[in-house]
Amino acid sequence: MKITMIGSGYVGLVSGACFSEFGAIVTCYDVDKNKIEDLGGGNVSIYEPGLDTLIQTNLAENKLKFVSDLKTAVQDADLIFIAVGTPSRRGDGYADLTYVFDAVTELAKYLSGYSVIVNKSTVPVGTARKVSKLIQTTNPAADFDVVSNPEFLREGAAISDFMRPDRIVIGVESERAKSLIGELYRPLNLRETPILFTDLESAELIKYASNAFLATKISFINELSELCESVGADVHAIAKGMGMDKRIGDKFLHPGPGYGGSCFPKDAAALLHMANLSEKRLRIVEAAVEANTHQQKRMVTKILTALKGKVEGKEIGCLGLTFKPETDDIRESPAITIIKELVESGIKIKVFDPKGMAAARKILPPGVSFCERVDGTFQGADALVILTEWNAFRGLDLNKVREQMRGNILFDLRNIYERDVVESIGLRYFCVGRAAKKLNQ
Ligand code: NAD
Repeated sequence: MKITMIGSGYVGLVSGACFSEFGAIVTCYDVDKNKIEDLGGGNVSIYEPGLDTLIQTNLAENKLKFVSDLKTAVQDADLIFIAVGTPSRRGDGYADLTYVFDAVTELAKYLSGYSVIVNKSTVPVGTARKVSKLIQTTNPAADFDVVSNPEFLREGAAISDFMRPDRIVIGVESERAKSLIGELYRPLNLRETPILFTDLESAELIKYASNAFLATKISFINELSELCESVGADVHAIAKGMGMDKRIGDKFLHPGPGYGGSCFPKDAAALLHMANLSEKRLRIVEAAVEANTHQQKRMVTKILTALKGKVEGKEIGCLGLTFKPETDDIRESPAITIIKELVESGIKIKVFDPKGMAAARKILPPGVSFCERVDGTFQGADALVILTEWNAFRGLDLNKVREQMRGNILFDLRNIYERDVVESIGLRYFCVGRAAKKLNQ
């Protein structure tokens, strides 16, 4: 089976490489010609564990290729996946569908024979039908069906998520398209991955509902973390106690500085806008978004309060820029938001991240120092803040940190250390949702 990926970013590349691994002949296309040239030489532009090897292997076996000519990419494909970005639109937060519609308008011209156009990008309800109309208008002779197949992979674990997903959701209305895409996913189905076939609108909405629900779960435990700090409870004990209830589940109950990334914030905003267009309100999602903004601000307040508001001449080391470990993606990362606010308060900032430095250099304000190693962040610093839970930050030599810092404060916004251990070294410890001492003591 021949398939084409339009858009070779996180989703397009991972999906393309994985489909080729499962035996399909995959062509990846992108408007970014430099990216395509690099990828054709086996140089992978993004960091995703295992992706470079998977791409290089399948390139060598001629099951995967990268082209910057759209006609070549499209003309012989059985299925054409749209995997371009759908960022938040300026102003109202709705999904910006410019890239999707541009891609569809261009590719429609080259459709020949029967093809299935698959929306893998996260798109608002109704987009599949709009895509269908756009193709009909652009190329009235085209023989095609449009399918909605949202992607649920997580950056950092994208390959295993793609190869062993919890489910595959496919919105489809024609038997012919259903049979083709069912055949493409057959290797996963043999592993007993459930495939949920639905109508187009439901498939589109399942993606937004899932992300909004996960964002809500994170905001829920983050709100509780604030209460825990006031009443002397331990948010990890709360999460564990809640998670043991199978109806709740133990995932996505880890407190931190707020959710971020390229999906949750933009998808929650788009879902709220979608509801608004239908004159409906999703009050729980509204609250989850508000709680997330509050949690990020609360982390800044926590830091400024511990410094007693005396920021003049203060220098803080920050560990972590990406929104989570094992990715180079800094889109909507709470680390970036928090660092920007600290800089605005007049604090001098030094940062280190294993993979996020290049992207962060482009968006962090001037004056932020980029350290070559972890050590540079704490040497001479008044405080150290852990913003992302990279493994490299989990085993710091805390004695060395204490010796080399000018001050003595550790803000562990990912709760990867234990208070007793940190305090026994002579550092003051601030974390999320684990109170300093029990009440009545
Ligand atoms: P990305 O920004 O990493 O990649 C998008 C790519 O599309 C870029 O390389 C860009 O150059 C290319 N592009 C833009 N316009 C194009 C056009 N007209 N023709 C061809 N290529 C074009 O985006 P991503 O993170 O891969 O996300 C893609 C979609 O998948 C989004 O809708 C996103 O919400 C969704 N999604 C992302 C993730 C994730 O973890 N990143 C997970 C699930 C779903």
